[in-house]
Amino acid sequence: MPEIKTKSPAIGHAECLIIGGGVIGSSIAYHMAKEGRSTILVERFIPGEGASGAAVGMLAAESEEFTDPELAQFARTSRDAFPELVRDLERLSGVSVEFRTEGFVTPFRSEAEGQKRWNAAIAQEVDHPVWWDSRELARRIPGLDGQVIGAIYRSKETQISPAQLCRAYTGAAVELGATICSGTQAEQLVVKNGRVCGVQTDSGFFSCKQVIIAGGLDSMRLLEQVGFEYPLNPVKGEAVAVSLKDHPLEYTIYADDIYLVPKRNNELWIGATSLPHQHDKEVSIGSLEGLLARASAWLPRVREASFIRTWAGLRPQAVAGRPCIGPVPGVKGVYVAVGHYRNGVLLSEATGRAIAALLKGAGVAELGISGFSPERIKEASK
Ligand SMILES: Cc1cc2nc3c(=O)[nH]c(=O)nc-3n(C[C@H](O)[C@H](O)[C@H](O)COP(=O)(O)OP(=O)(O)OC[C@H]3O[C@@H](n4cnc5c(N)ncnc54)[C@H](O)[C@@H]3O)c2cc1C
Repeated sequence: MPEIKTKSPAIGHAECLIIGGGVIGSSIAYHMAKEGRSTILVERFIPGEGASGAAVGMLAAESEEFTDPELAQFARTSRDAFPELVRDLERLSGVSVEFRTEGFVTPFRSEAEGQKRWNAAIAQEVDHPVWWDSRELARRIPGLDGQVIGAIYRSKETQISPAQLCRAYTGAAVELGATICSGTQAEQLVVKNGRVCGVQTDSGFFSCKQVIIAGGLDSMRLLEQVGFEYPLNPVKGEAVAVSLKDHPLEYTIYADDIYLVPKRNNELWIGATSLPHQHDKEVSIGSLEGLLARASAWLPRVREASFIRTWAGLRPQAVAGRPCIGPVPGVKGVYVAVGHYRNGVLLSEATGRAIAALLKGAGVAELGISGFSPERIKEASK
């Protein structure tokens, strides 16, 4: 790999430089600063402008029914750390992340469907799903469609405002001594004698001992600079917010074909489409129609709700099928945390904590993330 040097003097120095201010980079900045490390985060726009700002914020460690056991465990660990994380972030940053703990409900319309969902839920063997029959369901969630005969209730599932979470992570990181450089695009990793020594940005050169690449979908170009290939595809997701006015929903409804996520001020966020290989962030009328039709098929009063807004974002889906977290082989001091696809908000806590632990000398095996390590992913792709 060619060595790239810079002649210009550094405009900033830190032990660790993080590239990308989505939920992943912001969480890493918070965890690094918490460890007392000098930390700079560079974000080409403002934190939370990428996929993270488009997410609906479910921390769905069980409802997602991960088939990969390592990912399932990582997700559960991350979700379960949120109550304490939220307390710390809100105290340090003064930002409310709108954390909600009422739990998630997966409704069904036939006994067979319910049994299938129940078997899948208890197969996870860790959490304690509850079967709600039609009477219990009518008591808990009045106004569901008449054909719904029951639901699986998962009390441990929680949800949050992703944009507020980004603000809280970065606000808390700053409070602990980190620097956030918005409007700063990382262009070139600078390597000397096989070790990273800084990053050239469009604002100037930053020197550092470690670089963490957390640029979401746009991380590939930076990774290629250090000889690591980790292809990512965009999967567009569109969502819509409506106001339920006087009859807010209490629980998050996590159905097979749609999710309905209650937010503050009686807002209900309905998501999301899943459109692979689309690079634009437009919302089509057809998608909007589909989202609203599926939502009102479960909760008919969505038809009486008023429209608030719609948006779209691009999920970073890894061709390797799992996120990539850890040291990049071949160059000392370069780490990566990308490819969180549809669960970056959920996985942000555990990812930030894992990167901070790795930089302190922990190994991927002891952290339970061997399967996500760049080394392993590189081997598997051969
Ligand atoms: C509609 C929708 C709903 C979703 N719902 C959920 C959900 O309920 N729960 C959940 O857990 N996940 C959800 N997700 C997925 C989640 O949004 C992503 O997994 C997550 O945001 C990925 O975070 P990230 O930090 O890796 O990427 P991003 O948020 O995209 O952040 C990467 C950042 O890096 C910056 N960047 C890139 N290159 C550079 C560079 N060279 N220099 C400086 N900065 C750079 C970008 O500007 C960007 O801000 C949803 C996604 C969508 C689209």
